[in-house]
Amino acid sequence: MNKRAKRICRRHFLKLLAGAPVYAALGSVGIAHAEKRRYGKLVDTVICIGCKRCMSACKRWNGLNVERDELITDRETDLTANNWVVVNLLIDSKNRTATTYSHLACQHCIRPACAGVCPVKAITKLPEGPVVINEKKCIGCRYCFQACPFKVPRFDFEKRVTRKCHMCYDRIPLLNYMKPACVAACPVGALHFGYKPGIIIEAKRRVQQRGGSSYIMGLTEAGGTDMLTILPTRPQDLGLVVASEKVINQNLDKIRITASGIMGASVLAGSMYTYAALTGEKNTKDHD
Ligand code: SF4
Ligand code: SF4
Ligand code: SF4
Repeated sequence: MNKRAKRICRRHFLKLLAGAPVYAALGSVGIAHAEKRRYGKLVDTVICIGCKRCMSACKRWNGLNVERDELITDRETDLTANNWVVVNLLIDSKNRTATTYSHLACQHCIRPACAGVCPVKAITKLPEGPVVINEKKCIGCRYCFQACPFKVPRFDFEKRVTRKCHMCYDRIPLLNYMKPACVAACPVGALHFGYKPGIIIEAKRRVQQRGGSSYIMGLTEAGGTDMLTILPTRPQDLGLVVASEKVINQNLDKIRITASGIMGASVLAGSMYTYAALTGEKNTKDHD
C-alpha cells in the first residue's frame, strides 16, 4: 500500500471510530426512526399568562417541597433541587414595555452535555426523549451543572444528589402517552406535548400564524433539544442563557476532567512524597 492510500485508510478508520458509538447504539436507519418515536415538549411563551399552575403541578406529581411565596405571581424564582420548572416575568431589553412569561426547565438536549460528563453514568437520555438522573447512582459531584449549557441541574443539600425535570418519564410509558404534569395543568394551551416531529411542525405553524417574528429556542441551541420554546424575541434580549449551537464533545471534557484529576492527584502525591522524604530526612537527622 502506498503512503497516500495508507493516509486515506487511516482517515477513514478514524471517521468510523468517531461515528461508532452512535451507529452502534442506533444504526443509521434507527436514527430517523428514533426521531419519530421521541417525545418533545413545546412551550409557547407568547400565550403564557404566568399563572404558575405548571409549577404547582410539577411539585405535586414529583413530591417536591413548596417553598413559601414562590407561587405568587411575578415573584422571581430560580431553579433549585425543589423547583424543576420556573415561570418568571421577563422584560425585553430592546423594548422595556414588552414583557413575557418564561417557562424554564431542563431542555432535554438531544446530546446532553450533562450525561457526557457524569463520571458514574447516572444520567441517561432515554430513547423516548427525557434526560433522567438516577439519584441512586448520583454522587453529587455537580459536573453536570458545570457542563449544562442552560445551568439546569441543581444540588440537593439534604439528599446530597443533583436533581432536575425528567419530563415526567414516569407518566409516559406507565400511563400510555399521558402528558407531563405541567402540560396537563396549563389552562391556556401554552404547553404542548407529543412526538418530536409533530412538535417542530406545531411550533413553526404557531410562529407562521403570527407573522413569523417569534423565535423558536431549541432547534439549534446545544445542537438541538427536545424541549422547544417559542419566544417573542431572541433569548438574549430577554436575559435568558444563550446556549452555543455547537455540540461540545463532552466525552472529551470527561477525559479532560479525568486527566486533570489524575494530574492533580499525581502532583499532590508527588508533593506529599517530596515533603515526606524531606521531613523524614530532617526527622532522621533530628533524631540522630
Ligand atoms: S438542559 Fe442541561 S440538564 Fe437538561 S439535558 Fe441539556 S445539558 Fe442536561
Ligand atoms: S415535565 Fe414533569 S418534571 Fe418536567 S417540569 Fe413538567 S411536570 Fe415537572
Ligand atoms: S400553566 Fe401555562 S399559562 Fe400558566 S404559567 Fe405555566 S405555561 Fe404559563
